[in-house]
Amino acid sequence: MDLVEFERHVRNEPAARRYLLKRCFPGGDPICPRCACEKVYRLADQRLRCGGCRYTFHEFSRRFLNRGGLSCRDWLRLLKLFELELTANRMAPELRLSYNTVYKAMTTLRLSILAGALDAMQLMHVSSGLDLGLCERPAADDSHAALNRYPVFGIIEKNGWVFIDLLPQVQAETVLHFNLHFSLKLTRMGSIIYTDRYQRYDALMFCGDDGLPLNYVNIRGRSAYVDSLSGSFWSFARARLRRFNGVTPRRFPLYLKELEFRYNHRSDDLFPLLADRLCALVPEQTQS
Ligand SMILES: [Zn+2]
Repeated sequence: MDLVEFERHVRNEPAARRYLLKRCFPGGDPICPRCACEKVYRLADQRLRCGGCRYTFHEFSRRFLNRGGLSCRDWLRLLKLFELELTANRMAPELRLSYNTVYKAMTTLRLSILAGALDAMQLMHVSSGLDLGLCERPAADDSHAALNRYPVFGIIEKNGWVFIDLLPQVQAETVLHFNLHFSLKLTRMGSIIYTDRYQRYDALMFCGDDGLPLNYVNIRGRSAYVDSLSGSFWSFARARLRRFNGVTPRRFPLYLKELEFRYNHRSDDLFPLLADRLCALVPEQTQS
């Protein structure tokens, strides 16, 4: 989207709202976010009611953009700055919003990107053990599967497309063990550890912290296979990961899936794609 068009959509709140409504309801008329019924009528207080399941809602109910309390204009302006890869620190004064508000909104946007990934069902399934913060209220403890504190990802690049797979059967400790006992080469970039080629993957990767014995890791400098590839996903991602200040194990999946999205759409106009993700329905975290 060029700047002239962008300015047209953010010139006032009704224009911004129209743009986002179109992304929520490509067919024009609102449909029920619970049962997808098209028979929807408007109540006197402007809310909508589903003629099928009787659910009462408004246009943005159950959608990612409904989180965070941003106006439609603020969302569009934030999308633009996110497209341009500004950090939350730099965005906050531009948007005249608090750092916390911007940071939360960026997390929501990253979640919406993850939820639109090909493997979203796996990532958001409770068995993944990822703590993504998908539910706004934490679920009761007994409904949680074991937390996967240091999720390990496998990276494959083929024909210019990257796939970043969660490998729930591989533990970070196992990767360290392979390093010590089977001489799988490891490279470290801050808290991010990645391996040489492993099985069908170009690299295994995870983000650690003080809970792992990283000081014992046998680091052999920049010898990993992915570091030898120029113009690849990893050369694209490495520079960007350095800019995310202090990547934590918990947020690492969100950053990786964002980078996968950016890389695979590196020739596309990101703005409408980001808007579509933000306007999508929030999936319910599945238990089975
Ligand atoms: Zn319904």
